[in-house]
Amino acid sequence: MSSFNPKHRDTPASQITIALYRIAQAIDYIFRERGKTMRLSPTQIQSLFFLKYARPGVRTIGGLANRLGVAYATSSGVADALEGKQLIKRAPLPEDQRVVTLGLTPKGEHDIETLNDVLDEIELAVAALSETEQIIFMRATQAIVRRLQRAGYVSVYEMCWGCQFFQKDAHPNDPREPHHCTFVDAPLSEPNTYLECPDFVPAES
Ligand code: SF4
Repeated sequence: MSSFNPKHRDTPASQITIALYRIAQAIDYIFRERGKTMRLSPTQIQSLFFLKYARPGVRTIGGLANRLGVAYATSSGVADALEGKQLIKRAPLPEDQRVVTLGLTPKGEHDIETLNDVLDEIELAVAALSETEQIIFMRATQAIVRRLQRAGYVSVYEMCWGCQFFQKDAHPNDPREPHHCTFVDAPLSEPNTYLECPDFVPAES
């Protein structure tokens, strides 16, 4: 069984597998081309997106290592390079000075705004499918990702809405942090519920 061998692409599963591989190649190509114009590597672009959209508690060297699927020393090197380009800055966590957090500088915020449309070509290709095809494709790809996640090949970061640890309006008298996360046992502001979190577990439907 090898989807790379054209002779073996005689089943829907093998044809879909090679199509997913080509989509991954296309994304890699788009990231490299956009990176060239901004003097950023694909890993550096992914890191900037992580620092823009991950929940604040995981914006650390360790959190970045998990997100990129690399060793701590490697993510530290990525952070050094981005700091050298003045796109991010290190700062101690106010509640625990031993923890060093990573944050975007105004220049980093500007670059990520420029990069926000980097996946538009892929989305346009998907949007060209009929609505029925999109729903079937969405369910199918979600099932594939769940299986790859269980096998440890990919980490899924999602926002609070739909997470089994999310308690909406748990603190009705606190307009700044009205919601609650039972995983970290902490209140949540409305904006923080729209950030990506590695501890997301889908609520039972
Ligand atoms: S564990 Fe769930 S509720 Fe808690 S911050 Fe992460 S996504 Fe939000």
